[in-house]
Amino acid sequence: MDTAAAFRFDNTYARELEGFSVPWQPAAAPTPALLFLNRSLAAELGLDPAALEGAAGAALFAGNALPEGAEPVAQVYAGHQFGGFSPQLGDGRALLVGELIDTRGQRRDLAFKGSGRTPFSRGGDGRAAVGPMLREVLIGEAMHALGIPSTRALAVAATGEPVLRDTGVLPGAVLTRVAASHIRVGTFQFFAARGDEARVRTLADYTIARHDPALVGTPDRYAGLLQAAARRQARLVAQWMNVGFIHGVMNTDNMTLSGETIDYGPCAFVEAYDPGAVFSSIDHSGRYALSNQPLIARWNLARLAETLLPLLGEDAQDAIARATEVIDAFPGWYAAELLEGRRAKLGLLRPDPADEALAADWLALLHAGAVDFTSAWRRLAPAAAGDAAPLRALFPDPQAPDAWLARWQARCAEEDALGDARSGAERARRMNAVNPNVIPRNHRVEEALAAASDHARLEPFERLLDAVRRPFDDAPELAAYTQPAAAAVTARYRTFCGT
Ligand code: AMP
Ligand code: MG
Repeated sequence: MDTAAAFRFDNTYARELEGFSVPWQPAAAPTPALLFLNRSLAAELGLDPAALEGAAGAALFAGNALPEGAEPVAQVYAGHQFGGFSPQLGDGRALLVGELIDTRGQRRDLAFKGSGRTPFSRGGDGRAAVGPMLREVLIGEAMHALGIPSTRALAVAATGEPVLRDTGVLPGAVLTRVAASHIRVGTFQFFAARGDEARVRTLADYTIARHDPALVGTPDRYAGLLQAAARRQARLVAQWMNVGFIHGVMNTDNMTLSGETIDYGPCAFVEAYDPGAVFSSIDHSGRYALSNQPLIARWNLARLAETLLPLLGEDAQDAIARATEVIDAFPGWYAAELLEGRRAKLGLLRPDPADEALAADWLALLHAGAVDFTSAWRRLAPAAAGDAAPLRALFPDPQAPDAWLARWQARCAEEDALGDARSGAERARRMNAVNPNVIPRNHRVEEALAAASDHARLEPFERLLDAVRRPFDDAPELAAYTQPAAAAVTARYRTFCGT
């Protein structure tokens, strides 16, 4: 079967943007083997999944046999990493392979990660290991199923080449990632830091055409782009917070203009609720702790705004005022998104001025009782339908939530009196569509990745993948995936950047 013919590439980034990337070829993999193929995503991209299986798929996704029309390039970018600026990062082990128009007419990047050294590799080996690439699959698919914008994995191919890491010798792999684009805050920073105003403008125009086409040709388009990017981040981070997702490395090179979550490295989901939760082994100061994420998003957007200043107005003071307006509006946009999400999670349909306090007091209860975040939200649904026992059982003191439950139930009753909800069961059904039953539990992810990486056993990964792809399902076979790890395990849980 000729897989090459199936891809209809249209590579605008490589073709239109001079000085933004360098043509580069993936390294050859000695013995490629396909570990994962995302058949539904392949279909969404207009590809024939059957043509991507087997040896042909393995060779393709390991980078040994590129499809016709691919124009692989390594993209250049900069970035603030943990607050310190690196003027040149770039794709050190990634390549943009090309762009496809999907079946809904959306342009999508196809990129490799782990495909070998590039001119931007610095000291790195350009490689990726099986475990971390399968993590990208699991978390990306989970996020997508949760309705959270995310880059997604199309395939993972083992290379047959060993990769040396602090933890030992690991099997190598290449991830094929699909993204709305790979334009990062750090991409703008690269050109701004060099004083290359012309390329900042070119990039801004390209980004507008790709992500905010309604702004093309409008006089205020650059302020519009900043605002649109900020609103996407406000919504994204609010969605993260409402499922307890901790990205772990919110460096400016890991923040997209598209508003998709990107780069699943030392990420984790909070279990016992703690706003200060940090799992990354390299985040010593807790810069990227759960509750810091909206603050960091704003900080990153301020860095983006700085790069756009020359485009925001002739007069510097005026440009600063325009930028500041957006950055100052961000907390309000974020708070509104967060509250809208929380209201749905609480089963409420109409806004009420007391909702913010109602949600905050609920979270304070979870924090005080070190209660599992995901389970607590999920068990609010039976409480809405009249059975609070499963929820109470999560608290060290089962009476702890009673006063709050009475307040919440009174609020629900008020809405019911307005004729919104027909029954507690109807409210519970709505809540079960927004409060997940299954998230990628940290210990389950580790277990699945260890089996795949250490023993070449993919079955735990495949079963977990199946579970996280239906997060709102209550099927009995999913029960094993809904339990948090023992508190002692979570307390010791550390995620590593050595991906
Ligand atoms: P990340 O922490 O994965 O977002 O990567 C930050 C920067 O380090 C990016 O420029 C990556 O391309 C680069 N990088 C990470 N791992 C490697 C590696 N093994 N080899 C070369 N570059 C790498
Ligand atoms: Mg990155």
